[in-house]
Amino acid sequence: MSSFKAPPKKNLGQHFLADRTYIDQIVMAVNPRAGDRLVEIGPGQGAITFPLLRGQGELTVIEFDRDLITPLMEASEGVGRLTIIHKDVLQVDFSRLAGDEGPLRLVGNLPYNISSPILFHALEHAGAVRDMHFMLQKEVVDRMAADPGSKVYGRLSVMLQAYCRVTSLFDVPPGAFRPPPKVDSSVVRLVPKAPDEIGIGDRALFERVVRDAFGQRRKTLRNALSQLCSGADIEAAGLRPDARAEQLHVDEFIALTAHLAALPPDARPA
Ligand code: SAM
Repeated sequence: MSSFKAPPKKNLGQHFLADRTYIDQIVMAVNPRAGDRLVEIGPGQGAITFPLLRGQGELTVIEFDRDLITPLMEASEGVGRLTIIHKDVLQVDFSRLAGDEGPLRLVGNLPYNISSPILFHALEHAGAVRDMHFMLQKEVVDRMAADPGSKVYGRLSVMLQAYCRVTSLFDVPPGAFRPPPKVDSSVVRLVPKAPDEIGIGDRALFERVVRDAFGQRRKTLRNALSQLCSGADIEAAGLRPDARAEQLHVDEFIALTAHLAALPPDARPA
């Protein structure tokens, strides 16, 4: 790996994993099987890439930093067939990449500055994704996996848990990276739900209900959602208008959205 000469780039969130224990733990969590279509986001200097490539014989990676492309290619010689997509991951159409050869398994120690956009981008292509194993800031993973009633349960928890099963797997300390980030990290597994399991007809309305409900966390649902519906609507959906968003289960946000979507056109939220 001596050809990786460029210094780490802060603007690309480059904190390279350097601790074998955590690299092995990630590979074990992914548990790759023959025929799996693994795609790594942000291979960097290949900490996770090469163990995966060695095991699978082939791997696709998406890397934005042009200085890493040739060194990655050179380092893959004799290890396996590495396909490098030199692109911003947010511009990669995962549905197209998957084609009709089966869903992708996404893996990555993500650049933390764009981790939420990457998550939502992947979810837009959920039908093309079998699962995701991502390293993220621990604080973000805690919010993603939080249950109702928790201090960190919020919009991110509901939006992700509505579409995926989210499991926080293990924490990784700053010392495992070169250079070390300022924050703790965690590895999370996301498994997209099947479309008939999700039960959200109007996704834009669902997003609005969740955004408004958490926009004013301290307010009751009746007040936080006053632009969208009445207290009677909230009650008719089986919820308490004096409850707060942080107490509501994902299914309850979905039930409220379904109720509002089924109202006659003149009573529906504008
Ligand atoms: N996987 C390596 C590791 O664990 O050591 C590197 C992880 S580093 C935290 C994030 C990687 O994502 C870097 O290689 C960085 O260049 C790459 N990256 C940053 N922004 C990107 C983007 N928009 N699209 C694709 N890759 C990106």
